[in-house]
Amino acid sequence: MMNTHAAGTRSRQLIDLADTYGAHNYHPLDVVIEKAEGIWVWDCEGRKYLDCLSAYSALNQGHRHPKIIQAMVEQAGKVTLTSRAFHNEVMGPFLQDLTAFCGKDVALPMNTGAEAVETAIKACRKWGYQVKGIPEGKAEIIVCASNFHGRTTTIVGFSSEAQYREGFGPFTPGFVMVPYGDLAAFERAITPHTAGFLFEPIQGEGGVLVPPEGYLRGTYDLCHQHRILWMDDEIQTGFGRTGRKFCCEWDGIKDPDMLILGKALGGGIYPVSAVVASKEVLGVFKPGDHGSTFGGNPLACAIARAAIRVIEDEGLVARSAAMGAYFMDGLRRINSPHVQEIRGRGLLIGVDIKKQSGPARPYCEKLRDLGILCKETHEQVIRFAPPLIIGTEEIDWILERVAQVLA
Ligand SMILES: *Cc1c(COP(=O)(O)O)cnc(C)c1O
Repeated sequence: MMNTHAAGTRSRQLIDLADTYGAHNYHPLDVVIEKAEGIWVWDCEGRKYLDCLSAYSALNQGHRHPKIIQAMVEQAGKVTLTSRAFHNEVMGPFLQDLTAFCGKDVALPMNTGAEAVETAIKACRKWGYQVKGIPEGKAEIIVCASNFHGRTTTIVGFSSEAQYREGFGPFTPGFVMVPYGDLAAFERAITPHTAGFLFEPIQGEGGVLVPPEGYLRGTYDLCHQHRILWMDDEIQTGFGRTGRKFCCEWDGIKDPDMLILGKALGGGIYPVSAVVASKEVLGVFKPGDHGSTFGGNPLACAIARAAIRVIEDEGLVARSAAMGAYFMDGLRRINSPHVQEIRGRGLLIGVDIKKQSGPARPYCEKLRDLGILCKETHEQVIRFAPPLIIGTEEIDWILERVAQVLA
């Protein structure tokens, strides 16, 4: 079946409405989604697509997972928000489940990924002053070129992407940038004032960039030698996406100082994020130091508990590893003159299109016409990141179409 685009009339009208009344800070494909289930979505004209982006890994469990929907509905029938001025019945059990899943002591719940990153930065700096003894106002955090950690003014201030920064300054000082994947450059950037190293174990937005073998382990060891917090942003790579619970396990690391989580923690339903760390690190926060109106609310906690349980009960980590290997294998077997490189881990896969074959976007548009939704990242890269519940038959279905488009 061929989905012919020109978006249908109803879709066209809705796109025009969004264009007229919305700010233009995104450039979406011309698809208006009306309904979703599992790995599939439907547009307003009833055309069906396989979701190969999964809301940037926020939908690892698939769309509208029945167990997560059930937890949401049950909780909505009891209490949804209390404010943190009072306790709620669900937060304790949620924090217990989350820290057990992560193998860490304590967690601090927030809402969006960017808020979790901000929380991690605040904790790191305070730890630097109170525990490490860095002179007040001097703490440095090392970050990587081509990073993506969110869109707040502080976070875009240490982006290397010109468009993310342009017109938004002045920016927060205290960040030192090093090239991603270069251990020697990382070591050279360390000073007595370094409090933390903030990084992604695979740079998803950067174009699915996988660092060289041993890089993560090398930075981890250096951080511990120099008493620097290893701040692992697993917002996109966590919860099984890369075929491990957390991507840092690929370098044998089981105990990062800080795990920064979001996206799939909310089960594709609700924004839930968290920083998970040791008591020494998160213990720097005293009542009143930090907070969020919606952070840790009962609805979020009930949804996140169910989201974690689904990852565990359905074995989605192992499934991601197996399906990712199958998918990558199939992609490698497509003999396309346009492909520069195929890379990734688990079900986070980037197909790098050769410069001379033009940008990735037209390929994504052709895939959409064949019923596959994915989106280019960084001009040349098509990212394939379907929900982790996908099976081999559906991957074969995708591969057939990808082969057609890349021929
Ligand atoms: C998406 C993402 C963020 C930001 O999360 P939001 O929920 O969009 O604020 C931060 N870090 C990484 C690695 C991400 O992929």
